[in-house]
Amino acid sequence: MTSALATAGSATGHRRIPSVERLLARPEAAPLAEMHGRTALVEALRAVLDGIRSGADPAAPEEATILVAAGRRLAAERQPSLRPVFNLTGTVLHTNLGRALLPRQAVAAVAAVMAGACNLEFDLASGARGERDSHVEALLCRLTGAEAALVVNNNAAAVFLLLNALAMRKEVVVSRGELVEIGGSFRVPDVMARAGCRLREVGTTNRTHLRDFADAIGPRTGLVMKVHPSNYEIRGFTAQPGEAELHALCRERGVPLALDLGSGSLVDLARHGLPPEPTVRTALAAADLVTFSGDKLLGAVQCGVIAGRADLVARIRKSPLKRALRVDKMTYAALEATLRLYLHPERLAADLPTLRLLTRPQGDIAAQAERLAPEVARRLAGRAQVGTAPCSSQIGSGALPVESLPSAALVLSAPDGSTGRKAGGWSRRLAAALRALPVPVIGRIADGAVLLDLRTLEDEPGFLASLDALAF
Ligand SMILES: *Cc1c(COP(=O)(O)O)cnc(C)c1O
Repeated sequence: MTSALATAGSATGHRRIPSVERLLARPEAAPLAEMHGRTALVEALRAVLDGIRSGADPAAPEEATILVAAGRRLAAERQPSLRPVFNLTGTVLHTNLGRALLPRQAVAAVAAVMAGACNLEFDLASGARGERDSHVEALLCRLTGAEAALVVNNNAAAVFLLLNALAMRKEVVVSRGELVEIGGSFRVPDVMARAGCRLREVGTTNRTHLRDFADAIGPRTGLVMKVHPSNYEIRGFTAQPGEAELHALCRERGVPLALDLGSGSLVDLARHGLPPEPTVRTALAAADLVTFSGDKLLGAVQCGVIAGRADLVARIRKSPLKRALRVDKMTYAALEATLRLYLHPERLAADLPTLRLLTRPQGDIAAQAERLAPEVARRLAGRAQVGTAPCSSQIGSGALPVESLPSAALVLSAPDGSTGRKAGGWSRRLAAALRALPVPVIGRIADGAVLLDLRTLEDEPGFLASLDALAF
């Protein structure tokens, strides 16, 4: 227990470092012990004292200062690791910032089933065992036209499960132009190999014809797969067979056609003034099965959906991997509540945060920027110049990568008007200070300034209150 003992000052003139007991007896210690517990306070005090002993600082700080340092340490430790941030990056569905924001109805539904028991796999009518997908299957079918649907942990899991359940040890025919990598570690050829399928590439990178598929489909074929080019676009001299023709060919040969759609939009985005994106319903008109994410354009929680022909979904559901990839009651509660919002299409753009944010008119965002600029300038007085500028937001998560949405940003630039390398360092320091706020503010750096795209800012008082704490 050496750290609890007072240590004599060294020859270099260290003052006496107080003991932990002595510090605990001070009046400032009581509220800290009350809030964090005595054990944690003792640990924090020891850590601070160790720092003083090993540090180069010739004078030991005042006892009160040591307690303040311990208090700061305890407060920092209390911060949860996973916590809310302001996503002002301009990417609405930002994978690193948690993708879709849950509608409040979904948050309430999750809370309602979490604290007590629920009928997750229990049929209330018969009292017999139920099926967990039953809570969302009818809704998914109604909203997409599918005959059946099941839910797993994410879309990567949906693709993996589908491939494994329908085409293990068989060939999966894919166009060369669709052997893509979708962020991080999801590469179509690798997923196929892991799922136990043999990849049968057809066509060329830019052009694949119906006859390429016709020549490749044979007795070893388990599946024909199409991948929606989420995060890239091939332009110029390109060709892909028509969806209807390919579907007809697969039907004729008795081979299922699966389409990995990625972002599963359930409504026609063009009707909301957004760039068009295929809906699950239109995709299912030319495919036997479609896979899509729950937390991209659908706007719910992380999960993956396989929807389509009932016989195929039934085969997939029987796979032991379904059990390994299944989701919990929180996910079903959030997904069901979100899907219910789609039953009221007139209110969807107001109730579904993803659609609400994507459809915000630039005029509204620009007006918000003008309104907030003086407030922010007051809080950053002398530390940054605050202006406004038009900018472009993105949908994110691979949806419509080449389309952008006109938006508006707060522009925080160096107070001395500096540019170039100097401004680069300045903007990186400001961005770091914004990330260190109680509710971190995440923007983007452009031309030596920090840009805060306001498309996704709804909680203005919270944002301004967070800025009050800026240490920069
Ligand atoms: C996003 C995406 C995936 C992966 O979906 P997750 O839900 O992130 O697992 C797979 N395929 C396509 C085409 C995608 O766009």
